[in-house]
Amino acid sequence: MWQLTGRGKGRSLPRRLASMLFPPRCPLTGDKVEEPGRFSAAGWGKLSLLAPPWCEACGATAVEEAPLCASCAAPERYSRNLTGRGRLDAVRSAMRYSEASAGLVLELKYADRHDIAATLARPMAPLLKTMATPQRAMLVPVPLHPKRLAERRYNQALLLAAAIARHTGHAVASAVLRRKTATSPQKGLSVEGRYRNVASAFAANGSVTGQDIVLVDDVLTSGATLIGCAKALRRAGARSVRAVTAARVFPGTEGAQMELP
Ligand SMILES: [Zn+2]
Repeated sequence: MWQLTGRGKGRSLPRRLASMLFPPRCPLTGDKVEEPGRFSAAGWGKLSLLAPPWCEACGATAVEEAPLCASCAAPERYSRNLTGRGRLDAVRSAMRYSEASAGLVLELKYADRHDIAATLARPMAPLLKTMATPQRAMLVPVPLHPKRLAERRYNQALLLAAAIARHTGHAVASAVLRRKTATSPQKGLSVEGRYRNVASAFAANGSVTGQDIVLVDDVLTSGATLIGCAKALRRAGARSVRAVTAARVFPGTEGAQMELP
């Protein structure tokens, strides 16, 4: 059984043999790729990556000449609530939640495809710089409730945080937050309902006074989960709370209802 470690430096003979026998493949197209954790060119083309300029309010791609994205510029849009006092200092997602990215996220989450964390971390890691993340910041994966963790055996957000840290050198602090309640499924709830549902679902394990934190999760849907985490961290003394996710659901996304965090 070989594992993904480091960046392919000093590859041992068994590892070189393994990569000859089982060449790494793009998780989207199945094409052979140079090393594990890479997309093929065709794979990249299937993903809808988010790019600057970033919306000042929510971190989506902004409209060319405006400081806001179309969603935040429209009245009554949820994304405007993501940043600001008591919420997140900044938030970024690597790609839109689309058919292609949903497939990756679901495999990472449920199909034991831990290698996909390395693939998704590649476009996520550079986003930390775009939020002026200090090097002393800690990466904190959004926790699963212990019951859910026992069913799934691993937390996909922790896999992503560890994979990002291999690129950026940030520390990963997975025991900082806990999920107190196994919140009822968010599906079918209004945005306000989701916010209420998770507002008190998280707690910090001890103090994080003066710490800068970057929350890591697979998908941003309403943002309620990230804001619930941010509130718990601020109560515990966090100085700043940023967030990065692999994919982001935008209003009207096809299939967005099938698996909501
Ligand atoms: Zn926006």
